[in-house]
Amino acid sequence: MTVATTESKLIAPPLISPHGGTLVDRTGDRPDGVDALETLTLTSREVSDLDMLASGALSPLDGFMGREDYERVVDEMRLASGLPWALPVCLAVDDAPSGDSVALADEAGRVLAVLEVTEVYDYDKEREAERCFRTTDDAHPGVARLYEQKTRYLAGRVTVFDRPEPAFPELALDPSETRAAFAERGWRRVVGFQTRNPIHRAHEYLTKVALETVDGLLIHPLVGDTKSDDVPAATRVECYRVLVDGYYPAERVLVSAFPAAMRYAGPREAIWHAICRKNFGCSHFIVGRDHAGVGDYYGTYDAQLIFDEFAPHELDIEPMFFEHSFWCRTCGSMASAKTCPHDASQHVFLSGTKVREILAAGELPPVEFSRPEVANVLIEAYRK
Ligand SMILES: [Zn+2]
Repeated sequence: MTVATTESKLIAPPLISPHGGTLVDRTGDRPDGVDALETLTLTSREVSDLDMLASGALSPLDGFMGREDYERVVDEMRLASGLPWALPVCLAVDDAPSGDSVALADEAGRVLAVLEVTEVYDYDKEREAERCFRTTDDAHPGVARLYEQKTRYLAGRVTVFDRPEPAFPELALDPSETRAAFAERGWRRVVGFQTRNPIHRAHEYLTKVALETVDGLLIHPLVGDTKSDDVPAATRVECYRVLVDGYYPAERVLVSAFPAAMRYAGPREAIWHAICRKNFGCSHFIVGRDHAGVGDYYGTYDAQLIFDEFAPHELDIEPMFFEHSFWCRTCGSMASAKTCPHDASQHVFLSGTKVREILAAGELPPVEFSRPEVANVLIEAYRK
């Protein structure tokens, strides 16, 4: 255990290297002449990608992808360099811009960045859907968004001079900042937990099981765009706060927001989420059943099996696979099908629909399912 002095920081063990070896920083000063440039308006998903490019969360990418990277990512889950990469990070446009540089603005018209144009290219939406989402069904929210996009991709390095305001400033930490926080605490092995839902006992259990084997836990809820029927981010963030305050040792856990927009690409998104967390300094990443899935587009274990498509240590970050867990009355503890031999009648299990019914009625679910502090936050949210 290192003490946080200047001297011990110097000898603190190294954290995992960023993907590709170097943490990218594409923040910079506002160049002269931005106002004279053609301005492109980005969707909220593109703004979130832009901000992740700025902070190095998408290292080694330093801008929106060119055709060579894009094609190989779609076909083989690799950048042109051969480095693993699971999902396109692209900027859709109607026409090629006239100049060498364009200004990038959010939907409110605020200019955030400049992009040095290298290439504009056509892409095949159905092919991207089939390869990345494993479906061309436009009922899939990620596919629907892809189909609504403009028809060409614009590539080039970005320089971001005005970062979008984070939804939760107190939780906003860039990869360089989470890395500094881990180093300061003397953590070397850190497990990241991705979530877009409130944490019930099952998730508490698997994060703690993972934490038993490493130095620290990064609870990294996704606060970018989600489907409208997911629990609102503000409610989820309050759930994490009350859970961590009441049930986790403060010196072993960090809660910070992951600024990505959900793509609902299931298996490929699990790889992408893992690579991003590596950039934030995590050596391990929790992958549950149907990670980043939606509806029944993906098999239960697809998001775990896809990690086998890479050679050992190629991703560097180590995935930790988990089963659904539950409270077992006979075991008298949390357990999963892997660790409990008892009949399902002994397991406290509630469907998502059932939990919502209970909470909407203002009642507490069984304490074996949900901590009352978390349930009360959700009841309060339903009341509004
Ligand atoms: Zn049992």
